[in-house]
Amino acid sequence: MFQTGPKGSTVKPDRRPRVPAVARTPALSYIAGMSLRPILIHPDPRLKTVCKPVPGIDDDIRRLADDMLETMYDAPGIGLAAPQVGVTLRLLVMDCVKDPEAEPHPLVLINPEILAVSDTRSVYEEGCLSIPEHFADVERPAEATVRWTTLDGETREQTFTGLWATCVQHEIDHLNGRLFIDHLGPIKRQMITRKMEKLKRERARGAGDRAGARA
Ligand code: ZN
Repeated sequence: MFQTGPKGSTVKPDRRPRVPAVARTPALSYIAGMSLRPILIHPDPRLKTVCKPVPGIDDDIRRLADDMLETMYDAPGIGLAAPQVGVTLRLLVMDCVKDPEAEPHPLVLINPEILAVSDTRSVYEEGCLSIPEHFADVERPAEATVRWTTLDGETREQTFTGLWATCVQHEIDHLNGRLFIDHLGPIKRQMITRKMEKLKRERARGAGDRAGARA
């Protein structure tokens, strides 16, 4: 999902700070061989899939997490779930540090589970890297306590608040085949879906044109 502010102080997409990926990933840039993965655009059956638990942490999973962080920072986004890069496993990455001068705070959550949510709710204008250029207010619990496994195989538990709480719930939704537009009314959801179908057709035509030009 994109970086957004609380309702009333929304950071509009066109004014979103454009942060070079390299500046946001100093701790990661030494890792050789990280690469960007293409992000799936809605509608896609993989984005509607209930993902399977990560069975164990091996080199493939470590590479997936590294690639997802790089892809997220490059987009730029503040969260990315594995199904968005076509891997239907329960893994997500996020970093909701908004200040480009601040230390990045990348988190990798493997098999995350929401243990509890607050009764207090909050509204953020949400976006999604799989639904580019569409934003809508979504109401969710203001706090969420989540347990997950780290890349080192340790169990962690944390109560997220503010933008982090919204982001972790948005990303865990992805692992259950749910998008932020599924929180909207059917008319708005269908309108956005039709626009995404059109965008995908245009992109497919563009790719065809470029292939033709090279041929
Ligand atoms: Zn998303």
